[in-house]
Amino acid sequence: MEFAIFCTKVNILIIIIALCSPCKFIQSPIDFGPPNMLQAKNTLSLDFGRIIFDSPSAVLRPQSPEDISLLLTSLFASSFSKVTVAARGAGHSIRGQAQALDGIVIEMDSIPSNIYIHKRGHDEEGFSYADVSGGAMWIELLEESLKFGLSPRSWTDYLYLSIGGTLSNGGISGQTFKHGPQISNVLQLDVVTGKGDLITCSPTKSSELFYAVLGGLGQFGIITRARILLQEAPQKVKWVRAFYDDFDAFTMDQELLISMPDLVDYLEGFIIPNEPSLLSSSIAFPAHLDSMPPFLSEGGSSKVYYCIEFAVYDFQVRDTNVEQVVEKITSQMSYKAPFIYSVEVSYFDFLNRVSMEEISLRSRGLWEVPHPWLNMFVPKSGIKEFKCLLMDNIAVNEFEGPILIYPLLRDKWHTNTSIVLPQASTCSEEDEQVFYIVGVLQSTNPASCSAQCLDGILRRNRRIVEAASTEKIGAKQYLPHHPSLMHWHNHFGRHWNRFVAHKNLFDPLGILAPGQGIFSRIH
Ligand code: FAD
Repeated sequence: MEFAIFCTKVNILIIIIALCSPCKFIQSPIDFGPPNMLQAKNTLSLDFGRIIFDSPSAVLRPQSPEDISLLLTSLFASSFSKVTVAARGAGHSIRGQAQALDGIVIEMDSIPSNIYIHKRGHDEEGFSYADVSGGAMWIELLEESLKFGLSPRSWTDYLYLSIGGTLSNGGISGQTFKHGPQISNVLQLDVVTGKGDLITCSPTKSSELFYAVLGGLGQFGIITRARILLQEAPQKVKWVRAFYDDFDAFTMDQELLISMPDLVDYLEGFIIPNEPSLLSSSIAFPAHLDSMPPFLSEGGSSKVYYCIEFAVYDFQVRDTNVEQVVEKITSQMSYKAPFIYSVEVSYFDFLNRVSMEEISLRSRGLWEVPHPWLNMFVPKSGIKEFKCLLMDNIAVNEFEGPILIYPLLRDKWHTNTSIVLPQASTCSEEDEQVFYIVGVLQSTNPASCSAQCLDGILRRNRRIVEAASTEKIGAKQYLPHHPSLMHWHNHFGRHWNRFVAHKNLFDPLGILAPGQGIFSRIH
């Protein structure tokens, strides 16, 4: 049975009747749309990971939140349906999280992305904010808010992701240590629950739904609108990279920098396993890396480097100039002299830096390839051990792609959202406050990495997850993928019961987000 439909009320009802009917139309596929719609359906079984390819039976292109509500209300009311529904934002998941095998995929970008910007007046209380639809991309919000001299505070590195897709996970980048993840920068949401109810929620109104949905892996509702906190946008950014060959010095300096939020606006860092990795991570960084650190030691063995990347925004409100601020910061750092570089770029180019890497990778046929990525939150107490575990398990000379590693601060995360953070086993209160995000963002070139090789990388990632999840390291996956219910139970730990209770409350039939592989459809 195949459907590709334009969204009208009649079509929604036809699709529901067809999918819910016990006799179904399996023998005679029906197509309501032109050929390009069928093609679209095929691309809906693809995501950025290119590892899972689950085809839906139908595609819904809603024109309004009410269309989504109608679909879910009808499915919820039909007692014999087994149909599941996945919202698809930009489809940049890695393991089929936005797919729905034989179910319905809702293309969130078909709802017009009206962006309304509210700029707080001088004498007005409250905040500047943007109201934006769940399927809009962060790049659209940036472009629109900059017209008002405003910008969201918290970002992801890549901006061609949907608002609803990142809010269902977390949304992390170099601003997170200072402003929290994107899920800490939301004032209000419109959500269609798995029962079809369209609810406006916030920290003070239907707050249980609000917090459950944030970081909720799409399990409790579909975000159709978000109210995002805005701040004044800087014009320019001073962007600095400093290199290290000592891991302890690298992490100590990172932790030093996040203790200076008045000076530092952005902090990330990466492990550089080989020279091509340095070159590809430098595409967007317009500095002349004339004296690059040597990747071969005098004895001929290969060396690994670590790079801190930080930025200072050129706010006109600051009374010192940016150069002085950078000097004040770098004078306290212990990088490997002379390997420090800085550039000045526009705020837009800085935030949109990964798109330059995308252009370069696309031109070399290396964007639309499998991405066996692994992202983990690691307590400060276990970060060195985790780094050793990682480096013992990857082929340093052959690794393609960045390995991000930078610290975050626990008190910037609301404890009542659904996201799972690591618990450090033994450490002081101060140490407990810091944990790291590590992103092993590996690309595999099908020309050199066969299906068997990809499978080997996925099994290696699983081994790393298992080893890092023990009490000794205490890590948790970010953008999690788990093979069984028991693993999900362990992932959520003491928050599992709360997660299940929210599922029973907001999507009791298990209709939503089947691609996450957590709950089964009840019928
Ligand atoms: P999709 O893949 O479309 O969906 C992801 C999940 O969210 C699915 O379960 C889907 O059903 C659900 N969903 C989608 N839309 C909605 C909605 N409106 N309401 C409810 N649920 C919904 N993450 C970071 O935190 N920081 C980064 O710097 C970062 N960089 C990235 C760079 C690249 C190149 C890529 C590919 C990913 C990156 N990510 C990053 C990960 C990214 O944030 C997540 O994969 C996110 O889910 C992608 O958003 P999307 O719109 O593509 O979501």
